[in-house]
Amino acid sequence: MSYYRRASSNQGQMSAFKIRLLIAGAIVLFSVVGYFSNTDINPITGKPQRVGGMTAQEEIVLGIQSAPEMARQFGGISHDAVARNEVSSMGNRLVQALEQLLQESNRALPYQFQFHLLEDDRTVNAFALPGGQIFITEALYRRLNHPGQLAAVLGHEIGHVLERHSAQQMATSQMFSGITSAVGVASGDVSGQRMAQMVTSFIGMKYSRSNELESDRWGVQLMSLLNYHPEHMIELMNILEEESGGGSTPDFASTHPSPANRREHINLIVGEIFKYGIPEGMQ
Ligand SMILES: [Zn+2]
Repeated sequence: MSYYRRASSNQGQMSAFKIRLLIAGAIVLFSVVGYFSNTDINPITGKPQRVGGMTAQEEIVLGIQSAPEMARQFGGISHDAVARNEVSSMGNRLVQALEQLLQESNRALPYQFQFHLLEDDRTVNAFALPGGQIFITEALYRRLNHPGQLAAVLGHEIGHVLERHSAQQMATSQMFSGITSAVGVASGDVSGQRMAQMVTSFIGMKYSRSNELESDRWGVQLMSLLNYHPEHMIELMNILEEESGGGSTPDFASTHPSPANRREHINLIVGEIFKYGIPEGMQ
């Protein structure tokens, strides 16, 4: 009340009061906004998670803008048109099956998926950028001997996108400033150097053990929608184990969690998904 009295007697104090009111209002507003943007509900899984208020659209833009640099760092896009086509059509089949599954519960896929085969024939790996840009190296692709294994790789990477693992990591690291510059990314207002830095962080990004296991679950789920036997996921783990040879590279060739742990976990997932046993006639 005293504020009103003093304010009415002095024009200068009146405006000081107004300013303080505005600041207080702004503080309240920011804390409310902060509160709500702290926890984001994942549109696919329905789980609360912290992605710093980043929208699916921002993730898509970030992924698309980072994709050429990602490709460049792994020898560019593969020159093998047949193999490229095999990768993208398998990816698209998985996405279609996923979309159908989501439709049944009136949900839509907020992401735009694109699947790329990279020329690198030495680095056994696969990656997912936020928003749906997915990559597999020729080195990994050439070691696969069944389409079900390719479905397993791509299904796992789709899982990272759906679970928003990169966005989650970015929100909890210094890369947060990278997120806020997503608007700059959208307008093409990011220097090549900054983009290269961002992509390097994506490549070096270590997902947590639980992130990997969540993505393995998606892998098994998605490949089963295309009638591929879950055994191919186990075969994939065997291939990765042979190839890792003690060296640690990000994501798929990562030794964390170890292929043995993952195999064990995959068998548990398979038991959950196929409660009444694995149907006959899976490929
Ligand atoms: Zn992974």
